Amino acid sequence: MSKRKVAYFYDSDVGAYTYGLGHPMKPHRIRVTHDLVTAYGMLDKMHVLRAKRATPEVMSSFHTDEYVHFLQNVTPETAERMTFHGTRFLVGEDNPAFEGVFEFCSISAGGSIGAARKITSGAADIAINWAGGLHHAKKREASGFCYINDIVLGILELLRSYPRVLYIDIDCHHGDGVEEAFYTSNRVMTCSFHKFGEYFPGTGTQEDRGRGKGKGYAVNVPLKDGITDESYKSVFQPVISKILETFRPSAVVLQCGSDSLAGDKLGCFNLTMKGHAACVQFMRKQNIPLILLGGGGYTVKNVARTWAFETACALGIEDDIDLNLPWNQYFEWFGPRYRLEVAENNMEDLNVKDGSLERVREKALEQLRNLIPAPSVQMQDVPRESLQHHLGFSKDDETAPRDELDEELAKHVRYVYNLQEPDSTTDESSSSSESESEDDGTSSISWRMQNRVNGRRASRSPMPPTSNRSRTSSKKQRMSLLTGQYFDIPEEPEYAHYTCGIDPARASSQKRRFFLPEGWDEYLGVDATVDMHSRLFNEYGGHDLGGVMARGGRSNDGDLEEAEEEEEDGMVLDS
Ligand SMILES: [Zn+2]
Repeated sequence: MSKRKVAYFYDSDVGAYTYGLGHPMKPHRIRVTHDLVTAYGMLDKMHVLRAKRATPEVMSSFHTDEYVHFLQNVTPETAERMTFHGTRFLVGEDNPAFEGVFEFCSISAGGSIGAARKITSGAADIAINWAGGLHHAKKREASGFCYINDIVLGILELLRSYPRVLYIDIDCHHGDGVEEAFYTSNRVMTCSFHKFGEYFPGTGTQEDRGRGKGKGYAVNVPLKDGITDESYKSVFQPVISKILETFRPSAVVLQCGSDSLAGDKLGCFNLTMKGHAACVQFMRKQNIPLILLGGGGYTVKNVARTWAFETACALGIEDDIDLNLPWNQYFEWFGPRYRLEVAENNMEDLNVKDGSLERVREKALEQLRNLIPAPSVQMQDVPRESLQHHLGFSKDDETAPRDELDEELAKHVRYVYNLQEPDSTTDESSSSSESESEDDGTSSISWRMQNRVNGRRASRSPMPPTSNRSRTSSKKQRMSLLTGQYFDIPEEPEYAHYTCGIDPARASSQKRRFFLPEGWDEYLGVDATVDMHSRLFNEYGGHDLGGVMARGGRSNDGDLEEAEEEEEDGMVLDS
C-alpha cells in the first residue's frame, strides 16, 4: 500500500487527568495507546507532535463565552455554586468538574485543531489525535463525558481551506454534538453509525437529516445490539461509498470511538479490533486527506490495542506488525494472550435477526440518492471571523441574524434547545417542528423529543418503553450516559444568565491544581495506588511534572496565544 505522510499528536500530560475514582472515562487510555505505539516502533515512521493547547478564544469559535469562562474557572470545590446546583453547564454526574478539566480540554481540542492545520497545510495526508473525538459536547454545556467539542473546532479549521468536509462517527453513541453544530450546513456532511433505542444520547434516527440548506446532509445509521464485523461492513461501506460519490468531500474526519468494540463496558456492539479498523483502512484507501480522532472506549486495554492498530493502519504497516505484543509498560494488562487483538463474543446480532440492517441501509442510500448536491464554494483565504459568521457561530447569532443562513442557524439552535423543554412549547418551536414535518415528512430530532410533542401529533419514530420516564413530565430532561436514566433538570434561575456564578473577586485568586491519576482501582489494589503514583511520577521521564503542577497543568510555553506560523501548531515531541 502506498505511503502516506502521517502526523501524530500526543501530549504526555493527557494521561494524568482523571474524571474521578470509578468514572468509566479514563484519559489514561491515551497514554497506554501511546505506549503501544511506541513499543511497536511506530514513532519513527511518522511526524510526532505535541499540539499547542487550544485557547479560550479558539474554543469560543463554537462554544459560548460564558461556558468557556465557566470551564476555565470551575474547580471541584466551586462546582456546586458555579453550576447553580448542577443546573447549568455540567448537568448530572456524567461530567464532573475534575481537577484540570480546562487543561484537559485544551489538550484534546489543541490536538484536533493542530491535526486540521497539518492537513490544510499539506504537511500531512493523515493526522491522528487519539485525545480528541469528544463528540457529545454542546455549544453551551457538557454532555456524555465531553466538555469541549474538539471535532467541531477541527472541522471549522478545515472549512477555512476546504469547501466540503465529511464527518464519520463509528462510536457506539450518536455523534449528536457534531451533528447539531452543522445541522443546517451543506458544507459539512455528518454520518453517524450508532446504537439507537433506550441508549444515550437518545438522538439519531433516520428522520433526522438536517434542516434548511443542510437538509439531507446529516446521515444517521441507527443500529441494534450485537452488530458483527460483517454486518457493520455491509452497511458502512455502501453508505460511505455513496456519500463519497455524491458529496465529494475535500477532507474526512473519522471519529474512531472504540466503545463499539466487543466487550466494552458501556457499549453493546460486537466488533473486533480488525472489524473496527476496517473503517480506517477503507477511508485511507480513498486517498482523501484524513483526520483520525478518538472518542468513547471504556475497556482500556482494548481501546489501546485498537487505536495502536489503527495507527499502524494509517501508516500502512498493519500487515507487517507482530500481533504478539512487544514488551511495554502495561504488558501485564494484556494477558493472558498478550496479543494485539479484540475478539468477538457470542452475543446475538439483533440487526440481522429482524432484518432491520437491510432496511436501515436502504433508507440511508435512498436519502443520499435524493440529495441536492452541495454548491461549490468559492474558496479564497477565508477569514476566521467571516467563516464563523457564515456558519452561524458568531456570538450574537441569536439576537441579530444578518442573513438568511444566520437566521436559519439561529432558528435551529433555538429549535434544538426548545425541544428539550416539553412544556415551553413556544409558538416558534411548535411551528418550526410542524412545518418541518409537513414539508418533508421528517419528524423531530428523536423519539425522546417526539415524546414532548406527544398529543399534538403522532410520532413516526420508534418509541421505546417509557419505563422510568413520565411522558407528561413538565420538566426539562436529560439522559445520563452513566446510568441511561432520564432525570429532570430544575428550572434555570434568573440570575444564572451571564454571571456564571463567579465571584469576580475570588475568580482570579482561585488556584488551579493538577492531580495525578486515581483511576487505577480496576487494576490495582488500594494499597498499590500510592506506589503507582510514584511510579507514574518517575515515568514522566524527564518531563518536569513538578513544574507542570506549579503551572497548573499548563505546558511551559508561557502565553498560550495561538500561533499562525505553520510549525507552531505543534512542536516535535522528544521522546
Ligand atoms: Zn460513546
